[in-house]
Amino acid sequence: TQWELLDLNEVVQTAMRILRRLVRENIATDVELAAEPLVVKADRGQLEQVLMNLVVNACDAMPTGGRLAIRTGGDPGDWVWLEVEDSGTGIPEDIRDRIFEPFFTTKPREKGTGLGLSVVHGIVTGHGGRIEVTSEVGRGSVFRVLLPRQREEV
Ligand code: ADP
Ligand code: MG
Repeated sequence: TQWELLDLNEVVQTAMRILRRLVRENIATDVELAAEPLVVKADRGQLEQVLMNLVVNACDAMPTGGRLAIRTGGDPGDWVWLEVEDSGTGIPEDIRDRIFEPFFTTKPREKGTGLGLSVVHGIVTGHGGRIEVTSEVGRGSVFRVLLPRQREEV
């Protein structure tokens, strides 16, 4: 792990320049970044992996198109967050507890390994953070990654 002080906004903006190409044309992408710097101590490559896995999942959940929103923000206190929202299938309640398990997938073999969210979870906890999921079947899902805010400047 290569720890650096990074502005989460900059990491997301830079990564999205490449990740946008993964998003199909029937998906409208919005990126809404906080106006203030969101300083975290993190490994850039790992944060990129988190974002990529969440974006790929969001797109997989919208086979007939929809809206993808990537947002960042800071709570007044000690946390900053990164959110990936889709207007896709949603996650049925009975599997919500299992989606972070390695190899858990609802996708056909050639599409999903079931490793994405377990990798995301490992990275986020390795950064002292946590993930919150809200989802409604037929409406979509929001994955919110919370990371400890650093008080230093970048
Ligand atoms: P994979 O994408 O290879 O299936 P993941 O670990 O990334 O593995 O995700 C596990 C499962 O969680 C997916 O198969 C899917 O059922 C569910 N899931 C993850 N993200 C979403 C999402 N944005 N919308 C609906 N279901 C999701
Ligand atoms: Mg995945």
